[in-house]
Amino acid sequence: MPKSDPLQSESAKRPSAEQFIPVKNLSTGDKPTQKSSGQIHFREQKGYFQRLRTTMNSLLILLFFTLPFISFDGRQAILLDVQQQQFFFFNLTLWPQDFTLLAWVFIAAAFGLFFITVFWGRVWCGYLCPQTAWTFMFVWLENRIEGNSNKRKLLDKAPWSANKLGKRTLKHSLWGLAALITGCGFISYFIPARELYLEIFTGNAGFWSTCWVWFFAICTYLNAGWMREQMCLHCCPYARFQAVMFDANTKTVTYDVARGETRGPRKRKQETQLGDCVDCNLCVEVCPTGIDIRQGLQYECINCGACVDACNETMQKFDYQQNLISYVSENELKGIAHSNWRSPRFLGYGTAVVIMLIVIAIDLSNRSEIQLNVIRDRQSLYRETADNRVENTYQLKIRNKTQQTKQYQLAVNSEMPFSLIAAPVITLAAGEQADYPVTVLADKDAIPAGRKIIEFSVTDISEPRQSVSQETGFFSP
Ligand code: SF4
Ligand code: SF4
Repeated sequence: MPKSDPLQSESAKRPSAEQFIPVKNLSTGDKPTQKSSGQIHFREQKGYFQRLRTTMNSLLILLFFTLPFISFDGRQAILLDVQQQQFFFFNLTLWPQDFTLLAWVFIAAAFGLFFITVFWGRVWCGYLCPQTAWTFMFVWLENRIEGNSNKRKLLDKAPWSANKLGKRTLKHSLWGLAALITGCGFISYFIPARELYLEIFTGNAGFWSTCWVWFFAICTYLNAGWMREQMCLHCCPYARFQAVMFDANTKTVTYDVARGETRGPRKRKQETQLGDCVDCNLCVEVCPTGIDIRQGLQYECINCGACVDACNETMQKFDYQQNLISYVSENELKGIAHSNWRSPRFLGYGTAVVIMLIVIAIDLSNRSEIQLNVIRDRQSLYRETADNRVENTYQLKIRNKTQQTKQYQLAVNSEMPFSLIAAPVITLAAGEQADYPVTVLADKDAIPAGRKIIEFSVTDISEPRQSVSQETGFFSP
């Protein structure tokens, strides 16, 4: 008897397309976040943390624009002069060879940031990051022109009309102006501020300064006007590795699940078995990164505290206890007594900051204000004179690294009787470098043959503590 084909019999058993049970996506109960519904138009929120954030952001913006206008000793106090390769910071001038000091400063700042993050999470992002400050400034302008978040969403959907065109033109013009002033503000750390603003706004600036100002203006316009939270979500590396610095004692913006759930709407003063979250969705509507903090700690959260203020406002209306959402640590939520001061991360980053500050202090105190470079004459090792003496010639490169004119004493040091044929005192203007040819002379009979070590020294006459020296060789037959 022929055997039946098992594949054929399997397919015969399969249900036809009409017999399949249709699949339906079921809701998990969470309302869609702003993030999931495209462009984020977050609500403006008032409250304690928003006042704090606005104050910090405003101070940051104010400092950014005003610092280049501070003068010291007749010139801009903070200026990175790329052409002259000097960085002026009040009475300190840093040259390219001093830039290790800046590297230490950046490392100390990074450890300072980690140190704060262990304790307060991403408060830097919410309160001091320029991206946040400028984004909130641009959104503030948008809010004044197009109205609150609901009106902005409606305007987005509305067909083009004279009203929409007018509002959009005004908004983008003001954004453009704010971006252009920001571009000037940034470049004024490299080109003297007073001339730069004037030249840019009168169209008299040079080609390269105009290019750089417009480059930073366009970056600002795109970042703060269009990219906004996308920069934090996709471009900022700090958002990605911040979790490494967190521990159970780190305070971050957190929703108290035990107290809030089961969430649900209700009337004021209504007796209910539900948790304290009234599901008003305000915490989502005010979030600049468009997340729902009730879904737990998320890398998108910049710790700005807008949801804390929004939720506290709701709690107040319902006469509930404050801080359903608050800056709180995991241990605090669990009621575990803790101390950040003994946390290994906190102590480690704190120690690193202190070490870096000590290194910077040592580097600063050892920093010489004179630069000396000795180059031997490569044409001849030595020259013998008619009166039985030997001479070697050198080129000294001496730089006055201060901001004042200085007089320097030049000397050649050795246990053997060498003499210097050159003016022993040299005057250099602020920042000036001199190429100074000198000859060293010795009696042939008074020194042994071959190579001897001699040392050139340059000393500031008005401040003898400032002295540099460099060894080199003296050759004789
Ligand atoms: S979740 Fe809250 S703290 Fe975090 S970014 Fe959104 S509003 Fe700010
Ligand atoms: S603001 Fe507070 S009460 Fe309203 S949904 Fe968010 S957590 Fe719940």
